[in-house]
Amino acid sequence: MECIFCKIINKEIPSEIVFEDDEFIAFKDVNPQAPVHILIIPKKHISSVNHVEIEDKTLMGELILVAQKIAREKNLAGYKLLINVGREGGQLINHLHLHLLSGLSHLKSLNI
Ligand code: AMP
Ligand code: ZN
Repeated sequence: MECIFCKIINKEIPSEIVFEDDEFIAFKDVNPQAPVHILIIPKKHISSVNHVEIEDKTLMGELILVAQKIAREKNLAGYKLLINVGREGGQLINHLHLHLLSGLSHLKSLNI
């Protein structure tokens, strides 16, 4: 498997894991764009939101709940959840991931 995030799941490459259960793993982004920048991924290899199927609908809901749980545990006052889809959507790694960002109160308007 060439997927870098599958390698993180399999502990073949190191990461700073902040949460893990049977279905998800969350780890610190290696190139953080905010004071808090965590990636949350399903252990099931789904290439992108474009590849989500109806059988994945519970998994997709649980992905949001994992983000909420991490945010609560870290006492984040607020956060941004972001999913890039496809190369034109800014997606560089073809394993579905939810960006959890916090510490953005200095931003003055809608920022991406
Ligand atoms: P995206 O542009 O949505 O595909 O986001 C990919 C993210 O993965 C970027 O923010 C990268 O900094 C991050 N990233 C790439 N390789 C690693 C890695 N080995 N460990 C942690 N984060 C990574
Ligand atoms: Zn993968």
